[in-house]
Amino acid sequence: MTKERLITGKTKLLGVIGHPVEHSLSPVMHNAALAQLVVASRREASRREDIAQLGLDYIYLPFPIEPQNLEVAIAGFAAIGVVGFSVTIPHKQAIIPLLSEITPLAQTIGAVNTVSRQDNRWVGTNTDIEGFIAPLQTTYKQDWSQKIAVILGNGGAARAVVAGCHQLGFAKIYVLGRNVQKLQAFCDSWSNSPIEENLQVGTWDELAKLIPQANLLVNTTPIGMYPKVDQSPLSVEEMANLPTGAIAYDLIYIPKPTQFLQQAEKQGAIAIDGLEMLVQQGVAALKIWLQSETLPVEVMRQALQNHLGLRE
Ligand code: NAP
Repeated sequence: MTKERLITGKTKLLGVIGHPVEHSLSPVMHNAALAQLVVASRREASRREDIAQLGLDYIYLPFPIEPQNLEVAIAGFAAIGVVGFSVTIPHKQAIIPLLSEITPLAQTIGAVNTVSRQDNRWVGTNTDIEGFIAPLQTTYKQDWSQKIAVILGNGGAARAVVAGCHQLGFAKIYVLGRNVQKLQAFCDSWSNSPIEENLQVGTWDELAKLIPQANLLVNTTPIGMYPKVDQSPLSVEEMANLPTGAIAYDLIYIPKPTQFLQQAEKQGAIAIDGLEMLVQQGVAALKIWLQSETLPVEVMRQALQNHLGLRE
C-alpha cells in the first residue's frame, strides 16, 4: 500500500517536543497511523477536498526544544495552531506551569506526556498509565484485588506503573529502589493520595522476601536495555522464586525479549514487554487529538516493529 502523503494548506500539525528528540519513536508510529487514516478516508471520499472535511489531514513532526526555549515554543505553537503534541524528556514536568489545565491522572503522576489544544487552552494529561495497564486490562484481565505488585525502580516510569496498579485495584504495591533518599521522596510524593494506603517502598534487600509473593513483577529500571542486553535486574536464583503463572512485565521494548523476561518465562511466568505500552500510550494520545475512537492500532504496532527491526 502506498503511504504517499500530500501536505495541503489544510494539513493540521501534531508533534513531539523534547531535547534531544531525534531518537523518539513517536513520529514513526503516529505518521503511520495518520497516513493510514488519509488512505482510508480517500477510499470513502470521491474528491480530495473531502479528506480535510473529514478532519483526518494531520502530520506529526519532531520539535527539538531546549529547556530555555520551552515557554516561547509553546506560545509559538498556539500562534500557529498546533492541535496537540507529545512531551518527552526533559520537559515532562517543566511544561506543567505553561498549561491551563492538567488532568487528575497527570496530577497524580506529576508529569505530562500529552498536550492538546481545547478552546484556545493547553490541556495536559499523561497516557503512560493507560499504556501500561492496557495489556493487563485486555489479554491478561483478571481480578487484581487480592494480588501483589512488585515494582523495580522508582523513576519517572515507575510513577505511571504505581498509579496504573492502583487503578487496577492491586491489594499491595511494593516499590524497590537502590537510593534510600530518592525512595523516601518517592514515597512522600504520594502522601494525601489514595495510593498511599496500598504503597510500600523498600530497598533491593527486600527482593528475596517479596519475589515469592509477587503476582506482578515490573522492571522499570533500564537494566537489560540495549546495548547491555545480557543484564537483568534479578539474578537467576532470585527469579527462581517467582511463582509459576505470575506476570513479569518489562517496560523495555528492545531487545525483545530482555534477559529479565527470558528468565521469567523459564520460570513459567507470563512475559509482557514494553512495546505494547509504547503503542497504547500513543493510541491514547491520538484518540485525544483526533477525537476518534477508531484508530489503526495494528498499523502503529507494525510501524514500530519494522522500525525497531522486530519480528513477531
Ligand atoms: P528514570 O526516571 O531514569 O528511572 C530509572 C530508575 O531505574 C531509577 O529509579 C533508577 O534508580 C533505577 N536504576 C537505573 N539504573 C539502575 C541500576 N543499575 N540498578 C538499580 N536501579 C537502577 O527512567 P524512566 O523514565 O523511569 O525509564 C525507565 C525505563 O522504562 C527505561 O528503560 C525506559 O526506556 C522504559 N520506559 C518504557 C516506556 C514504554 O512505553 N514502554 C515508557 C517509559 C519508560 P536511581 O533513581 O537510584 O537512579
